[in-house]
Amino acid sequence: MAGRLDGKVAVITGAASGIGLGTVELFVAEGCRVVAADIQDEKGRALEQRFGQAVRYARCDVTDEAQIAAAMALAKSEFGGLDILFNNAGISDGMRQIVEIEAERWDWIYSVLVRGPALGMKHAVPLMLERGGGAIINTASIAGMQAGWGPIAYSSAKAAVLHMSKVAAAQLSPQKIRVNAICPGLIATSIFGASMGLPREVADQMAARVAEMGGTVQPIPKAGLPSDIAEAALYLASDAGAFVSGTHIVVDGGITVGSRHAW
Ligand code: NAD
Repeated sequence: MAGRLDGKVAVITGAASGIGLGTVELFVAEGCRVVAADIQDEKGRALEQRFGQAVRYARCDVTDEAQIAAAMALAKSEFGGLDILFNNAGISDGMRQIVEIEAERWDWIYSVLVRGPALGMKHAVPLMLERGGGAIINTASIAGMQAGWGPIAYSSAKAAVLHMSKVAAAQLSPQKIRVNAICPGLIATSIFGASMGLPREVADQMAARVAEMGGTVQPIPKAGLPSDIAEAALYLASDAGAFVSGTHIVVDGGITVGSRHAW
């Protein structure tokens, strides 16, 4: 059976873990070749071992414009061009209250979550235009839609991602580049533990345990899985989403509409 991304090339940021990793797995299964961009070198290189010719790892800190440009260039040099950008790398933080704001930490959150995707789009667009179009997907969050789901810097940055996606869609849709966002709800990944200040390995173990238990352990009462978000990314990246631009898909099990059985 033909893959839904046969012949396509994607750059996925935050590809070494969680939602990014789940999306690498699904995209490759659908025939896509992927530049997996991240700052976790060991896990990134392991993806090359696992997927062979279909995946190249790019060391790419999304706060560094030169590294972003290099990741896009790798898509061209290794795979001949670029069709899909999944701007997904992310971090969270402990600045829950306004009085806890630390200026430098705020700038860092915005640099990863907002400036990173903006620069990703900047460097992806010329390559997509060479192919006659493309699809850009930015990972936002339910925290960017409603107050109360995350810390203040993180939540406001995700709101910026949502609006930036719309502005970019307005600019790029006429050139056949579609831009959309995804708003995940609670997904069993390492980001929770990492935002609580746990070492990465402990956060990874916690995420694996949550996923194993079907998302039902404290402090995450009911979580979705990275594959739930990957499926939404596949829809937006593939021809199935060919007429979809300038919007977002909420994948949250219904919690933002107050669904009880999601919990
Ligand atoms: P994760 O921690 O498993 O994955 C995030 C990945 O981003 C990691 O591999 C990490 O190394 C990478 N990363 C962090 N900083 C980076 C940088 N400067 N440059 C490049 N890569 C960097 O967490 P996740 O939940 O899979 O997060 C993916 C995205 O989903 C993030 O944007 C996050 O904000 C968003 N999100 C997650 C949830 C959730 O519940 N897990 C909910 C809403 C939104």
